[in-house]
Amino acid sequence: MTASPSLATSDHGSTSVGEIRAQFPILQARAHGRPLVYLDSAASTQQPEAVIQAVSDYHRLHHANIHRGVYQLSQTATRMYEEARASVARLLNAAEPAECLFTRGTTESINLVASTWGRATLRPGDEIILSVLEHHSNIVPWQLVAEATGARIKVIPMNDAGELDLEAYRALLSPQVRMVAVNHVSNALGTINPVRDIIAEAHAVGALALIDGAQWVAHGPTDVQALDADFYAFSGHKLYGPTGIGVLYGKRRLLDCMPPYQGGGDMIERVTFAKTTYAALPNKFEAGTPNISGAVGLGAAIGWIEALGLDRVSAHEQALLRYATERLSQVAGLEIKGQAGAKSGVVSWVMRDPPIATLDIGVQLDLRGICIRTGHHCCQPLMDRLGVTSTARASLGLYNGRDDIDRLAEALTEIVASVRTRVSASVSPITPASESLAETQDLTYPAAAAQSPEAAADEIADLFEFLPDWPMRHQHIIDLGDKLPVMPDFLKTAANSVSGCQSTVHIAARLKPGTEDVIEFLADSDANIVRGLIALLQQLYSGQHAAAILGFDAEAYFTRIGLDQHLSMSRRNGLASMVQRLRHLAQRYAG
Ligand code: PMP
Repeated sequence: MTASPSLATSDHGSTSVGEIRAQFPILQARAHGRPLVYLDSAASTQQPEAVIQAVSDYHRLHHANIHRGVYQLSQTATRMYEEARASVARLLNAAEPAECLFTRGTTESINLVASTWGRATLRPGDEIILSVLEHHSNIVPWQLVAEATGARIKVIPMNDAGELDLEAYRALLSPQVRMVAVNHVSNALGTINPVRDIIAEAHAVGALALIDGAQWVAHGPTDVQALDADFYAFSGHKLYGPTGIGVLYGKRRLLDCMPPYQGGGDMIERVTFAKTTYAALPNKFEAGTPNISGAVGLGAAIGWIEALGLDRVSAHEQALLRYATERLSQVAGLEIKGQAGAKSGVVSWVMRDPPIATLDIGVQLDLRGICIRTGHHCCQPLMDRLGVTSTARASLGLYNGRDDIDRLAEALTEIVASVRTRVSASVSPITPASESLAETQDLTYPAAAAQSPEAAADEIADLFEFLPDWPMRHQHIIDLGDKLPVMPDFLKTAANSVSGCQSTVHIAARLKPGTEDVIEFLADSDANIVRGLIALLQQLYSGQHAAAILGFDAEAYFTRIGLDQHLSMSRRNGLASMVQRLRHLAQRYAG
């Protein structure tokens, strides 16, 4: 480990990053033959042995349904569940554990407030203020409640560095504003928002404030009372805990007045067919059997991170963020998106020169054992504001050290160099502009690669079997993409674009001249991996009879050649969208 700072524990000396990493079984794994570099903690942190063990012990030794059993096992499980709640209250410095409700995660916490408080309170003309930095889970629930109640949504803009424009925020504030809901930290850019001031100003006009703390709680100390937050939401899986468990903190006087979220067992005081009265907090908002083991795991995660000390976690991540920013800024052609003065451990970027699709960056890094996130990060309005469709994002956890950042920077330099070589060898990953090709008839559409899609499929499968591992198969797909017949820009129309893909995709099909049911098509994408998949589709389908296209089971075939294992869900969905488009076209001509 190169010069990584140490994290001091509260009761003994200091813990090095290497020692912390050793506590995470998954980080001992290798990916594609290389030591795993995990830089996607903003999506989900990994879990230390202490959390895995606590969940396992719970299942092995203590599981029973909670709150209702008179037997000891049930009482133990209940105690463990409620102890976890007490840990949450301590982490957040809530006035009492009952103000901390267990939910499935941040998304459910925000939906809970929007649909209970929102539907009970909002009236036509009321206003909800969000920010341009929000995750979709802090936008869509408010849109749903705004549609239902006639409330309006206003949005705080940001500057080019990714900092909220507080002057503009003040201008939006008025007595009509009932709720201000913003994140503590932006998941896409890492901006730390001045939430204490935002809350105080919301209160000054009589509005409430909800803070989406998903990207904060694992990275620094939280004090909901000092912030004076009305609601505060976070997820266990971003705090070194399990998935499927999260928290909504709410002030008692607000939660007491809100109607329940869901009805069912455990949330009632007395049920008759005439009328039901509800249980006291927190049960009123926890209908049904909750995620008991998840809560136990979250409690263990909180204990684990508190022992390291959240101040020290923050100091470590800040130092590493500075290092990462410096190293990535040195990669030629890389442009960092989001340069706020106050940032958490997130670096988002795009590759400008040469332009490399973020999807390709993610795939290329994966082949080198490096996990980052690419895409819109569930922040499409923010991407629109930045003028991009996606970014590549590395996000830090306390198991990351400078060696991880070095591996990332070196890999990116290598990827840029290899794209440069390909461009200079004039195998351009970018489709050359082809305005000179004015007529579609002048274009070369790929002819049939074999007698039928099945025969083409067998040929491809034979070749794939020859290639021993995914990196080689991946390279083969990329090579196929390099030889894709040119699709001129004038065919890249909105009508020809295919939605549901993570990258830009266009397909233009035609009937082969002189035939009544033979389909040929050109297609293109800004991502090399997708261009390769298009080449596979062309081999299967282009030049084939419509009925043969319809008779071919593409999904089973992709499973057969192993694409289902190696393509992410979104890329598989993208592939499925392209196949669906071609099948629709085939249907038209299948007679
Ligand atoms: N808000 C922010 C800022 C996030 O980063 C995320 C997760 N990426 C969420 C909300 C949603 O969290 P979850 O999926 O755990 O509900």
